[in-house]
Amino acid sequence: MNRPFNFSAGPAAMPQEVLTEAAAEMLDWHGSGMGVMEMSHRGKEFIAIYEQAQADLRELLAVPDNFKILFMQGGGLAENAIVPLNISRAGTVDFVVTGSWSQKSQLEARKYCTVNVAASSAPNGHTTLPEPASWQLSQDASYVQVCTNETIHGVEYHALPDLKVLGSNAPLVIDFSSHVASRPVDWSRVGLAFGGAQKNLGPAGLTLVVVREDLLGHALAVCPSAFDYKTVADHQSMYNTPPTYAIYIAGLVFQWLKRQGGMTAMETRNRAKAALLYDAIDNSQLYLNKVAANCRSRMNVPFFLRDESLNETFLTGARTRGLLQLKGHKSVGGMRASIYNAIPIEGVQALVDYLREFEKTQA
Ligand SMILES: *Cc1c(COP(=O)(O)O)cnc(C)c1O
Repeated sequence: MNRPFNFSAGPAAMPQEVLTEAAAEMLDWHGSGMGVMEMSHRGKEFIAIYEQAQADLRELLAVPDNFKILFMQGGGLAENAIVPLNISRAGTVDFVVTGSWSQKSQLEARKYCTVNVAASSAPNGHTTLPEPASWQLSQDASYVQVCTNETIHGVEYHALPDLKVLGSNAPLVIDFSSHVASRPVDWSRVGLAFGGAQKNLGPAGLTLVVVREDLLGHALAVCPSAFDYKTVADHQSMYNTPPTYAIYIAGLVFQWLKRQGGMTAMETRNRAKAALLYDAIDNSQLYLNKVAANCRSRMNVPFFLRDESLNETFLTGARTRGLLQLKGHKSVGGMRASIYNAIPIEGVQALVDYLREFEKTQA
């Protein structure tokens, strides 16, 4: 079946193989007589699905043994509260503000701890990233939080900062919601990583947290039990009912990613896809991407038509050609193409062909 290419920022396109597999197993999972939605989370069938998903993700992302993988709920925005509830110790926390998502994170954390904005790219409209060497880190911060891919502004740290080199012993917390599984992760630089599944892992409703074990067990007294990482870890993410169907689908995505060759293969592909699209934008008279070249996101590509009166015509033409959900986020306007793992290079090529053709019809 030839489906349109869907450039949604999230919930986003899924690998078609995964959808086909899930459809085939909808009424009867592996001869159990049950669909996955209908299974007890404590039954042997679902436990097998859960354990496979955990093992596959650990292998894919090369998560070291001293990190727990937690399957939670509440999304990235809930983590903006859950992280400080668990690891701020009501002390001081450093934030780097690089766009809408890190801005939301630091505002939410203020409810639970003292926040220091160590650096901000707000003055230039979040079109560059503050160099780690310029960050004004606090003495004795409980942690330093960075959004490593800003989904709305389209900026991405292509390497994780090394806090030790910056003279800080604080754990690094990363919001990797919108580029998780797009490239390998250097866990030696990370204390905790979180992300909603609905960008690059699976359906909405599942939140991934990967946390170093020494950070468990320090939650504030007011932290809800269901959000205490230690409680969640001690119960294998089943203190309360986990989002079972979303875990199952994410598990199918993990297997799909393994078949694609894992993280190094995905990174190579994602680099090629991003280069194809940015080159087309940069080499045109009509389209514009405002982000500095060295920090452009390989997942979320915001762009503008220099003549904004053409926006609606552009979007209608795109839909007609099977190029869906290209409208930009309302806070920045313009267009945005999210080119997560599930978008093949053919999808990016189809978009680039349309960009060129549309520009020609306007000349
Ligand atoms: C989408 C997104 C969020 C918010 O996720 P929700 O699941 O809606 O809470 C947070 N951070 C980043 C970087 C995102 O892309």
